[in-house]
Amino acid sequence: MVLSELPISLQGFDPEAPIQIAPQIWWVGMRLPDDRFQCHAYYLDNGSRGVLIDPGSPLTIEATLRKVARIRDLEAIRYIVCHHCDPDIAASLPLLSERLKRPDVEVVTEWRAQALLRHYGHRFSYYRVEEHGWCLPLAGERRLEFQLTPYLHFPGAFVSFDTGTGTLFSSDLFGGFVPDAAVLESSDVDYLIDNARPFHQHYMPSRELLTAGLNRIQLHWPRIQRIAPQHGHIVPGPVVAEVFQRLTEIDCGVFCLADADLDLKRLLRISQARGRITEALISQDSPTALVASLRTILASTGTVADCELAIDLPGSGWCSWGEGQRAAERRLPPADWVRVALPGEPAALLALRWSEGQDEGDPELLAMLREVATTMRPWLQHYLHGVRQQRNTAALREAAYSDALTGLANRRALEQQVPSTPYALISIDIDHFKAVNDSYGHGAGDLVLQRLASLLSRSVRPQDAVYRLGGEEFLLVLPAADQPSALTVAERIRTSTARLDLEGLAPEGHISLSLGIAQAGTGAAASGTEDFATVLERADGALYRSKREGRDRISCA
Ligand code: GH3
Ligand code: MG
Ligand code: MG
Repeated sequence: MVLSELPISLQGFDPEAPIQIAPQIWWVGMRLPDDRFQCHAYYLDNGSRGVLIDPGSPLTIEATLRKVARIRDLEAIRYIVCHHCDPDIAASLPLLSERLKRPDVEVVTEWRAQALLRHYGHRFSYYRVEEHGWCLPLAGERRLEFQLTPYLHFPGAFVSFDTGTGTLFSSDLFGGFVPDAAVLESSDVDYLIDNARPFHQHYMPSRELLTAGLNRIQLHWPRIQRIAPQHGHIVPGPVVAEVFQRLTEIDCGVFCLADADLDLKRLLRISQARGRITEALISQDSPTALVASLRTILASTGTVADCELAIDLPGSGWCSWGEGQRAAERRLPPADWVRVALPGEPAALLALRWSEGQDEGDPELLAMLREVATTMRPWLQHYLHGVRQQRNTAALREAAYSDALTGLANRRALEQQVPSTPYALISIDIDHFKAVNDSYGHGAGDLVLQRLASLLSRSVRPQDAVYRLGGEEFLLVLPAADQPSALTVAERIRTSTARLDLEGLAPEGHISLSLGIAQAGTGAAASGTEDFATVLERADGALYRSKREGRDRISCA
């Protein structure tokens, strides 16, 4: 019987008959009643050098041998491939030792499996695949090729590929549970994956290892015509690629999360949360965004109600990011929350609050978070690097836009922030400042400039700006001020400067100022959109009029 000519169900077919699944390849397994863990044996008919693949255990071997006998005399069996050493593959070896009389039968396997297979007690010698270039020559050009699939689920596990038919004998890969023993083959990908998922969740160590193993196989044998697994269902050619893809999406190895709890569903939820947190660490740059993701992900486990991230930021102290916060708050998370430290410097931690009724918390989830926390350092370093850069940029800006002597904004800053109309400008210049330097030295001149700068800063409203434009020239920008109020401010500055006690710093212990006022939008040629440089020119013009007219006075443009 050839499988491709059969319906997918084996119901009603001779249970003693081998089923041909490809030229010279036969399914010679035995269906075990009421067992979802069906084990498949295959026979590759290769004349007098036949290959029995994953023969099975005492439960099935007699039926398997009866089926082989219907294809060839049992004397034709020359090789027995054992893809690993589990009893459902190899516990029949002692029995086969008695039943197969031929003296040159060899067990085809890898050295790590061999080390264990000998313990079954049998008389066969070994054909170690790694010593034969991972290949067993068959009749003509045909070869059985081998590929290691480490840790899936035995360290030395391997798979075989028949170059003659493109059949992959995949051992436990693509294994699955079999809800209906009559179904040998299926092209229904959802059905295949639904049956493979619990099998892989239980037996495969990790998604990374599984994906690596599957990629190796596809790289090695790009044209696989069918998959013949040891458990589960035969996969026909047209859906092979899709089944490969879908298998990599299965979450494996979740039992490494388990302490005492073996609830697979819960462990899967935690495992999925771990995967999503890893993705969030890659995609979310800022603590605000990361915490938002963490809260959603942890809420999906059903046990966490809230979480925060806290970092002991160098120069700022503890900062926490929590729900609905657009920026960090300078505090630690609430003291009664569970804390998971991120190892290393500076100190940082995740804090969580369990959901109502979860007072005991969730130990497996906590263990997962502790493990994740050990991997969060690179994310944190990246964030801190960004903070340092921001601070450096701010410091550079500060240096570029402020005057080192007085701390006032400088001319460059003025160019960056043109005020919107209406506004008034007061241009200010110290009278005979050269005489200060000449009489008391440059140091005294500097002190006078600082004293005046602080007086100017104290004399204006918070929304006003004070600039030192160079030397002993200053400028005030007064948003929304008209000429009379600018005049009031100017007069206040003039009189309080005159009263400044500069004994020992300036001739006669005092200085005076000349001031010029201009209001935006009131120039002769100007409309409401008069540009800033023009207004400044008018203020300077007024200032020079004050100088010309005898200094220590205010003029309006
Ligand atoms: P006028 O009343 O016409 O403004 O006379 P003035 O002496 O104030 O003006 P002038 O422009 O002739 O001289 C300004 C002096 O200010 C000359 C310069 O050395 C001095 N000066 C400029 N910047 C500084 C500074 O940062 N510190 C000190 N100590 N002196 C400065
Ligand atoms: Mg001057
Ligand atoms: Mg001057």
